[in-house]
Amino acid sequence: MLSQSLVWLGNCIVGCVTMTDSERFWKSVERTEKCWNWTGFRDNNGYGQISINGNAISVHRFSWELHFFPIPKGLLVCHACDNPSCVNPNHLWLGTVTANNLDRARKGRSRTGPLSATTRIRMSLVRKGKKKSEEHKRRLSQSMKKRALRV
Ligand SMILES: [Zn+2]
Repeated sequence: MLSQSLVWLGNCIVGCVTMTDSERFWKSVERTEKCWNWTGFRDNNGYGQISINGNAISVHRFSWELHFFPIPKGLLVCHACDNPSCVNPNHLWLGTVTANNLDRARKGRSRTGPLSATTRIRMSLVRKGKKKSEEHKRRLSQSMKKRALRV
Protein backbone atom coordinates (compact mmCIF):
# COMPACT_ATOMS: atom_id res chain seq x y z
CA MET A 1 0.00 0.00 0.00
CA LEU A 2 1.20 3.45 -0.97
CA SER A 3 -0.21 5.09 2.13
CA GLN A 4 2.03 3.01 4.39
CA SER A 5 5.18 4.46 2.84
CA LEU A 6 3.98 8.03 3.27
CA VAL A 7 5.39 10.01 6.17
CA TRP A 8 3.61 12.80 8.01
CA LEU A 9 5.75 15.92 7.61
CA GLY A 10 3.96 18.21 10.06
CA ASN A 11 3.31 21.29 8.00
CA CYS A 12 3.05 19.48 4.70
CA ILE A 13 -0.41 18.13 4.07
CA VAL A 14 -0.69 17.25 0.41
CA GLY A 15 2.72 15.62 0.20
CA CYS A 16 1.33 12.95 2.49
CA VAL A 17 -2.10 12.76 0.97
CA THR A 18 -3.32 9.70 -0.87
CA MET A 19 -5.75 9.78 -3.78
CA THR A 20 -8.43 8.61 -1.41
CA ASP A 21 -7.87 11.68 0.76
CA SER A 22 -8.34 14.11 -2.09
CA GLU A 23 -11.32 12.12 -3.36
CA ARG A 24 -12.86 12.36 0.10
CA PHE A 25 -12.17 16.08 0.03
CA TRP A 26 -13.92 16.70 -3.30
CA LYS A 27 -16.93 14.63 -2.25
CA SER A 28 -17.70 17.18 0.47
CA VAL A 29 -17.19 20.28 -1.65
CA GLU A 30 -20.18 22.07 -3.10
CA ARG A 31 -19.02 24.52 -5.75
CA THR A 32 -21.01 27.68 -6.37
CA GLU A 33 -20.07 30.50 -8.74
CA LYS A 34 -18.34 32.26 -5.87
CA CYS A 35 -17.51 30.10 -2.87
CA TRP A 36 -16.81 26.39 -2.77
CA ASN A 37 -18.59 25.38 0.40
CA TRP A 38 -17.48 22.52 2.58
CA THR A 39 -20.44 20.27 3.34
CA GLY A 40 -18.57 17.93 5.68
CA PHE A 41 -17.75 18.31 9.35
CA ARG A 42 -17.22 21.87 10.58
CA ASP A 43 -15.73 23.07 13.86
CA ASN A 44 -17.43 25.60 16.17
CA ASN A 45 -16.05 28.49 14.13
CA GLY A 46 -17.44 27.12 10.88
CA TYR A 47 -14.10 25.89 9.52
CA GLY A 48 -14.35 22.59 7.68
CA GLN A 49 -12.28 19.71 8.96
CA ILE A 50 -11.04 16.57 7.29
CA SER A 51 -9.18 13.70 8.84
CA ILE A 52 -5.90 12.99 7.05
CA ASN A 53 -3.77 10.16 8.42
CA GLY A 54 -5.66 10.41 11.68
CA ASN A 55 -5.06 14.15 12.03
CA ALA A 56 -7.86 16.72 11.88
CA ILE A 57 -6.89 19.19 9.15
CA SER A 58 -8.66 22.42 8.27
CA VAL A 59 -10.03 21.94 4.77
CA HIS A 60 -9.11 25.44 3.58
CA ARG A 61 -5.48 24.65 4.43
CA PHE A 62 -5.85 21.31 2.69
CA SER A 63 -7.30 23.05 -0.36
CA TRP A 64 -4.42 25.54 -0.42
CA GLU A 65 -1.83 22.75 -0.54
CA LEU A 66 -3.88 20.78 -3.03
CA HIS A 67 -3.86 23.72 -5.46
CA PHE A 68 -0.67 25.61 -4.69
CA PHE A 69 2.26 24.56 -2.50
CA PRO A 70 2.99 23.50 1.08
CA ILE A 71 2.08 26.21 3.57
CA PRO A 72 5.29 27.81 4.87
CA LYS A 73 5.77 27.34 8.59
CA GLY A 74 4.05 29.95 10.73
CA LEU A 75 1.74 31.19 7.99
CA LEU A 76 -2.03 31.07 8.01
CA VAL A 77 -4.37 30.42 5.12
CA CYS A 78 -6.87 33.29 5.27
CA HIS A 79 -10.21 33.82 3.56
CA ALA A 80 -10.65 36.80 1.28
CA CYS A 81 -14.38 36.00 1.18
CA ASP A 82 -14.77 35.74 4.99
CA ASN A 83 -16.61 32.46 4.57
CA PRO A 84 -14.85 30.00 6.91
CA SER A 85 -16.31 26.98 5.15
CA CYS A 86 -15.06 28.10 1.72
CA VAL A 87 -12.28 26.08 0.07
CA ASN A 88 -12.14 27.98 -3.24
CA PRO A 89 -8.39 28.44 -3.82
CA ASN A 90 -9.07 31.81 -5.46
CA HIS A 91 -10.52 33.06 -2.18
CA LEU A 92 -7.55 31.97 -0.07
CA TRP A 93 -4.43 33.91 0.72
CA LEU A 94 -1.36 33.23 2.82
CA GLY A 95 -0.75 35.59 5.69
CA THR A 96 0.83 36.02 9.07
CA VAL A 97 -1.26 36.15 12.25
CA THR A 98 -0.78 39.93 12.28
CA ALA A 99 -1.85 40.32 8.66
CA ASN A 100 -4.93 38.22 9.31
CA ASN A 101 -5.85 40.29 12.38
CA LEU A 102 -5.35 43.52 10.46
CA ASP A 103 -7.52 42.18 7.65
CA ARG A 104 -10.27 41.26 10.09
CA ALA A 105 -10.05 44.65 11.79
CA ARG A 106 -10.12 46.44 8.46
CA LYS A 107 -13.17 44.53 7.28
CA GLY A 108 -14.92 44.79 10.64
CA ARG A 109 -14.46 48.53 10.91
CA SER A 110 -14.79 49.45 7.27
CA ARG A 111 -17.89 51.61 7.79
CA THR A 112 -17.21 53.42 11.02
CA GLY A 113 -14.41 54.02 13.47
CA PRO A 114 -10.80 55.05 13.06
CA LEU A 115 -10.35 53.13 9.84
CA SER A 116 -12.84 55.26 7.99
CA ALA A 117 -9.87 57.60 7.51
CA THR A 118 -8.24 54.87 5.44
CA THR A 119 -11.39 54.59 3.39
CA ARG A 120 -11.35 58.34 2.85
CA ILE A 121 -7.75 58.17 1.66
CA ARG A 122 -8.65 55.38 -0.70
CA MET A 123 -11.62 57.32 -2.03
CA SER A 124 -9.45 60.35 -2.69
CA LEU A 125 -6.94 58.14 -4.48
CA VAL A 126 -9.72 56.84 -6.65
CA ARG A 127 -10.82 60.38 -7.41
CA LYS A 128 -7.23 61.37 -8.26
CA GLY A 129 -6.99 58.37 -10.55
CA LYS A 130 -10.20 59.45 -12.25
CA LYS A 131 -8.90 63.00 -12.70
CA LYS A 132 -5.72 61.65 -14.20
CA SER A 133 -7.58 59.52 -16.68
CA GLU A 134 -9.86 62.44 -17.61
CA GLU A 135 -6.83 64.62 -18.14
CA HIS A 136 -5.26 61.87 -20.18
CA LYS A 137 -8.38 61.65 -22.35
CA ARG A 138 -8.36 65.45 -22.80
CA ARG A 139 -4.71 65.44 -23.83
CA LEU A 140 -5.32 62.53 -26.13
CA SER A 141 -8.19 64.24 -27.88
CA GLN A 142 -6.11 67.43 -28.19
CA SER A 143 -3.25 65.59 -29.83
CA MET A 144 -5.73 63.83 -32.08
CA LYS A 145 -7.12 67.22 -33.15
CA LYS A 146 -3.58 68.49 -33.79
CA ARG A 147 -2.84 65.44 -35.88
CA ALA A 148 -6.07 65.88 -37.76
CA LEU A 149 -5.16 69.49 -38.53
CA ARG A 150 -1.78 68.45 -39.91
CA VAL A 151 -3.43 66.09 -42.38
ZN1 LIG B 1 -15.13 31.94 -0.75
